[in-house]
Amino acid sequence: MSPQPVAQSEQRSERLKLLKQRAQAMLEQHQQVEVPTASESLNVTKLLEDLRVYQVELELQNEELRAAQQDAELARRRYQSLFQQMPLPAVVMDANSMVDDSNERANILLGERKRFVTLDGRLVQRLNGKDKARFHVALRDVRPGESMVLHQVVIGPQGAKTPVFDAHLIGLSNDYKIDRRVLVLLVDRSAELAREEDRRFFSLLLDSSDSFIYATDDHGKFLLANQTFLNFLSRTRSQVIGHKRETCLPLRDAIMMTETDQKVLLTGQAVTFEEQIHMGPPGGTIDLLSRKFPLHDLQGHINGVGGISTDITTIKDQQRQALLSETVFMTSSEAIIVTGPDTRFIRVNPAFTKQSGFSLTAVLGRRPNILKSGRQSASFYASMWQTILEKGAWSGELNNRRADGSFYIVWSNINAVRDGSGKVVHYIAIQTDMTLLLQAQQRLEHQASYDGLTGLPNRALFNDRISQLMALSLRHHKPFALLFVDVDRFKEVNDSLGHQVGDELLRMVALRLQEGIRTEDTVARMGGDEFVVLLPNTDRAGAQSVADSLLVRLRLPLTLEQIRQYNPMASIGVAVFPEDGNTPDMLLRSADMAMYGAKVGGRNRSALYTPQMSQDSDYAFAIQTELAAAIDQQQLRVFFQPKILLATGELMGAEVLVRWQRPDHGLVMPGEFIPIAEKSGLLFALDQWVLNEALHQLGYWCQAGLWDHRWRLAVNQNASNLRRASLVTDLQTVLDRYHVDTTLLELEITEDALLEHTDELIGRLADLREMGLSLAIDDFGTGYSSLSYLRKLPVSVIKIDQSFVRTMLSNESDDVLVQTIIDMAHNLGHSLVAEGVEEEAQRARLVSMGCELGQGYLWSKPISAEDFEATFLVAKA
Ligand code: C2E
Ligand code: MG
Ligand code: MG
Repeated sequence: MSPQPVAQSEQRSERLKLLKQRAQAMLEQHQQVEVPTASESLNVTKLLEDLRVYQVELELQNEELRAAQQDAELARRRYQSLFQQMPLPAVVMDANSMVDDSNERANILLGERKRFVTLDGRLVQRLNGKDKARFHVALRDVRPGESMVLHQVVIGPQGAKTPVFDAHLIGLSNDYKIDRRVLVLLVDRSAELAREEDRRFFSLLLDSSDSFIYATDDHGKFLLANQTFLNFLSRTRSQVIGHKRETCLPLRDAIMMTETDQKVLLTGQAVTFEEQIHMGPPGGTIDLLSRKFPLHDLQGHINGVGGISTDITTIKDQQRQALLSETVFMTSSEAIIVTGPDTRFIRVNPAFTKQSGFSLTAVLGRRPNILKSGRQSASFYASMWQTILEKGAWSGELNNRRADGSFYIVWSNINAVRDGSGKVVHYIAIQTDMTLLLQAQQRLEHQASYDGLTGLPNRALFNDRISQLMALSLRHHKPFALLFVDVDRFKEVNDSLGHQVGDELLRMVALRLQEGIRTEDTVARMGGDEFVVLLPNTDRAGAQSVADSLLVRLRLPLTLEQIRQYNPMASIGVAVFPEDGNTPDMLLRSADMAMYGAKVGGRNRSALYTPQMSQDSDYAFAIQTELAAAIDQQQLRVFFQPKILLATGELMGAEVLVRWQRPDHGLVMPGEFIPIAEKSGLLFALDQWVLNEALHQLGYWCQAGLWDHRWRLAVNQNASNLRRASLVTDLQTVLDRYHVDTTLLELEITEDALLEHTDELIGRLADLREMGLSLAIDDFGTGYSSLSYLRKLPVSVIKIDQSFVRTMLSNESDDVLVQTIIDMAHNLGHSLVAEGVEEEAQRARLVSMGCELGQGYLWSKPISAEDFEATFLVAKA
């Protein structure tokens, strides 16, 4: 470009030369044509002068022009270099959108100018369709001196890395050249947009993570918290960022997190650990797997801690669940087998090993057929597998063989375990050893039919047998008999000596009954102390003789704990099919009534059923219901029977005996209602009433001076009364109430009540004696003839049972027995009363034997208070 100014100045001087030549030529021409006149020459001179001035003027102008040209040139060059050196791609466009000029950077961006000029010279060719339109509009609209920005214009071929620009359009002034020009500056926004894109991407990444992502500065203030974490905290970003974690988390969680932060800040090392926080559901905890790492500033100093925590509560729960399952698997008492889909063993538990004898290593990889016993058919297994494949499960009994070759039976539950797609991945078999179960079942079946205590058939089995027997008996027209056996005074033994002794007695009775019958007969226990005996092909007489022989067998002496000799006795009722009942129930009821008849008849005997018994039974039932009311309604009476000094016939006292003035029935004797009162628990109240009534009467006789202070009034007391701790004070209360001296009262207690001579009972009896009371053992000789225990009992009187008195004159052994009782009682310092003395001969014999007192019809039946007073007291007074 440097030669340009030289050429211009040459042109200019050339032009001036031409101008001068023309001027001279004009001057010469003018001189040849006409001689100038003086005026003319004046004009020429003037003209020349003007020309010279003009010339000078021109030269001056020329000079200025040259200077201006030089200025313009400088400006142009400055602009060019500025334009070219601009750090942005810049393009000058004309009104037709044609590129008028472009700088280096533009050329680089847009490609060789030549090329894009040939591409019809338009920048817009490089823009995409949408941008093209925008660009056209902007080019058209931008005014000179104004500017406009087109954001995010894409230039170049479309692609991942296509640069994006902001196009600044600046309208250039009109006078620059004839046409309007627009300067287009292209500011590359690609990097910035990419950064923005990255930022959006990362925050999306953070926010869409399931984990909590957060960062805190070295003071524990949150710098960052992703949306998941914010959701968990139930706070907005602004409530968290810039705030200490104590403001958003439970204090103990915050403290714990600060501790791990401190570790990271101190060591500069990242850590991964499990933690448990208490935020979340009330009372619950959340397990987190956390990674914390140091954050660095630009200088590389640690200035915070970043963290990623993942909620692994479910996983932990699953782990715990898995641990639990594992524990169950390992400790289960059922054998558990896990196989693969090919049925090969993968795992077995210890119970399996215990059950089958196969260890895990012995079965691993093998198939369950190693357990096959060969006792079940191939078709059995085939149908089992068919069920498993079709229904996914099977359960049933399997006959297996142990490692040692022995057989065992299991109840097996086999289940197919499928994955999500329904493919079988495992089979699990749970096997319960049935051997024990079958045994237990047999035991249960036995228990259902047999009595646990005696091993005899129970009521259920008896019902079966009697039904069968009935059918058989009807078919063959042969009678059969039923014995109903009830152990006498069992309740007393049981209550006083304890259940163990009671059980022992029942076992012995059962054994003796069994030993006393034929093989075709059946003994069953109906409950309590009741037994039944079924005697096929037996008539009434036959049954009676079996019953009697059983009684004899039962009565054989027996050794029970604490009592050396006990003679078990029973009452047996006999009923015969079909006369006494044609259904099992009716026959049983008849036998039961007959047994009751035997009881009432004095126990230790058998009785045949008679239709009269049914009525008696109804009667007993009526008595039971009425008796309770009878006590309240003052229907009971006390009668008095004198006790007499045998040798002289002198009155020595009386026994109080209860009677029941039953409406419409007259006077009922205690034998009819005492056993019922005892069974229905009414006896205690009855005895209390009698005691009160007797002492009331005695109090009156004493006050009236009718009662000698040497006489005693005897009152019967039931055994259960003795077990009451309050007996002593209760007695004293009644005595005090009627101002009766203690020494005037005697308590009669049946000997069964004294079977149990525990320290407590002996203590209680001693207390009574201490009070001054007299104690008598009633009905002595009927319960059991253990005289040795008498030694221990602090009693004063023994009453010889009337059954011995009745027979002693005719039966020598009873005579000996009475004598023995008398001698022994005397040895022990006891006195004696003989009951049921009806004849003079009996009185005489008893006197000769040394018996002191007697009681009986020989002197008087029990009589009312008035009669007793009139007959014995007033007469004496
Ligand atoms: P127990 O205590 O042995 O009374 C004697 C029983 O023999 C009385 O029968 C009496 O009437 C009867 N008896 C007296 N002398 C003779 C006689 O010479 N020949 C005959 N055959 N019998 C005679 P009772 O009054 O029928 O009483 C029966 C049983 O009822 C009593 O026998 C007693 O064990 C019981 N008992 C009576 N009253 C009461 C009472 O208030 N409380 C309790 N717990 N039992 C009572
Ligand atoms: Mg008595
Ligand atoms: Mg008696």
